[in-house]
Amino acid sequence: MDLKLLQQEAPNPLYASVQEYPYPLTYPLRDSTELRLAVPALATGIPEEELFLQGPFLCCQSPSTHIGPFRHAVDFLVPDGTVVHAADEGRVEVIKTDSERWGPTHEFANDLNYITIAHTMWRTHHHFGPPEYHHWTQYCHLARESEHEFGIKIGDRVRAGQPLARTGKTGWTDRDHLHFLAFMSDGGRGKFGVISLIPRFK
Ligand SMILES: [Zn+2]
Repeated sequence: MDLKLLQQEAPNPLYASVQEYPYPLTYPLRDSTELRLAVPALATGIPEEELFLQGPFLCCQSPSTHIGPFRHAVDFLVPDGTVVHAADEGRVEVIKTDSERWGPTHEFANDLNYITIAHTMWRTHHHFGPPEYHHWTQYCHLARESEHEFGIKIGDRVRAGQPLARTGKTGWTDRDHLHFLAFMSDGGRGKFGVISLIPRFK
């Protein structure tokens, strides 16, 4: 990701509309006592006003990168190795988990490991022929090839809550966390191709 381009693009009025992901999502993580005990240390150094709760999970804002097309991304503070689950049923569209590099600057952006899942609109539209995908969820900062443990491959149908992979610092990051994004296509109107959606969790 090009930070300068993102900062130039962020004020585009295209991103001013506030849209929600159309269905309630399953949390991409599982709450547990171990997790609750591990998380406070991960918040060290984050200004208190940038921390918030999303259900039982402690999250933080990233004011310099959660902007424009990515403004509704959520950073869940969880330790490396935490299992990541599909937030809705769908089809695994992208798996990019070949990296082990990470660092605190945007030069590391291309070292990101992530999985993208496409979700269909079959619940609201009748159509015949190949499924049409309109919404996606994306799970970022994954451990190298960690989807192998769960047998996840491109093209797989997954159900909500199905384990996908494990977190592990890769890409542009300075601490253990899961960067979660729900998005739709911007119809070719923006430079990044996407508009982030506000996730609503069950
Ligand atoms: Zn993030």
